[in-house]
Amino acid sequence: LASTEVKKEPSHVRIADGVVIGGDQVVVMAGPCSVESEAQIMESARAVKAAGAHILRGGAFKPRTSPYSFQGLEEDGLKLLAKARAETGLPVVTEVINPETVDLVASYADILQIGARNSQNFALLKKVGQCGKPVLLKRGMAMTIQEFLMSAEYIMSEGNQGVILCERGIRTFETATRNTLDLSAIPVLKRKTHLPVVIDPSHGTGDHHYVAAMSFAAVAAGADGLIVEVHPDPEHASSDGPQSLKPKKFAAMMEKLKLFANAA
Ligand code: PEP
Ligand code: MN
Repeated sequence: LASTEVKKEPSHVRIADGVVIGGDQVVVMAGPCSVESEAQIMESARAVKAAGAHILRGGAFKPRTSPYSFQGLEEDGLKLLAKARAETGLPVVTEVINPETVDLVASYADILQIGARNSQNFALLKKVGQCGKPVLLKRGMAMTIQEFLMSAEYIMSEGNQGVILCERGIRTFETATRNTLDLSAIPVLKRKTHLPVVIDPSHGTGDHHYVAAMSFAAVAAGADGLIVEVHPDPEHASSDGPQSLKPKKFAAMMEKLKLFANAA
């Protein structure tokens, strides 16, 4: 269902009034890795909106590598995201980590995010395939493009065609960056599938110093959007502080991004 052999025209995934992923506009999703408090998510939402972002990101259920790390505010976090949406008008993307909470997360979110660690959790993929909300599907850190597309098929074959693919870096021998961002996935996916392709330069590099450069490269290579971690106080973030941009840096990046849009 995802293949260009079945459908040639690019798919446009409609999120809200005026926000369509896969069309002419490069759509930017931005916000903190985790929702931490009302003040933190409100400040983040206002800042990313002022800088020109289209969608607010923030994790309420966090799939942490260690069980001792911050696991997220759960439903309280979802409520704070809904509050930030009500104030700023920004639609919300947030992660869902198991089939049992899909209905709950879908009742708050505009886009359901499937994380890299869950990208082959087939029970979860089937469940989000039945929920009717757009899905941002991340590529697993050791997943081939073909496997990535098969995960998209799991969602689509349940009836949900609103799938957005997200490259977020893969595991290689390189340790200078957290992951190796596979920018070649953009033209490869564009040839194989009609689904929109979004790049996550934050998890892709793990270091805020490299986020702007990878964002420009991704847009120049034809990405339909970006998902970027932005935090008002990265030094004290509950998760992913080192890769989070401060609002000022994010605003500067958004300004420069205009130079690269529609380059591919
Ligand atoms: C995230 O978006 O904060 C996240 C956990 O991403 P990934 O699943 O790509 O690691
Ligand atoms: Mn994160």
